[in-house]
Amino acid sequence: MNKHIVKSFNLDHTKVAAPFIRLSDKIISPKGDIITKLDLRFTQPNKEFMDMPAMHTLEHLLATFLREGGKYKIIDLSPMGCQTGFYLTLFDDIDLREFKEFFIDCLNKVLSAEDIPGAEEKECGNYKSHSLQKAKEFAGKFIKGNIELI
Ligand SMILES: [Zn+2]
Repeated sequence: MNKHIVKSFNLDHTKVAAPFIRLSDKIISPKGDIITKLDLRFTQPNKEFMDMPAMHTLEHLLATFLREGGKYKIIDLSPMGCQTGFYLTLFDDIDLREFKEFFIDCLNKVLSAEDIPGAEEKECGNYKSHSLQKAKEFAGKFIKGNIELI
């Protein structure tokens, strides 16, 4: 097994300070498209974790707000199994500082959200597992943190 084939396994998780936005990978497709993968880390690895209802609600809200306005060509937002953040995959090369401002705007929308998009039984695979209040707590913590760009 080649564990080095997964780039994030090579990140020293003891040497990072959350919250941060990290350029995790940049991939050029066979047709020449640039695909950027970002690590949006909300909590300190191996110290603090988001509970599943909070992560699930953040996923629904951010998946919506990141796509609104069409500023970025979003491919996917994926929760990390370690419950410390999300991977965001998108087309094109991006300016991390500019993205940070955009992401803070998205998190501010989370803070003022009154409902959760796609959280009806027919739209979601675990519709009872949501917490808008806890999603707002983690969004607020991210905004107030010293957000590093790596
Ligand atoms: Zn869902």
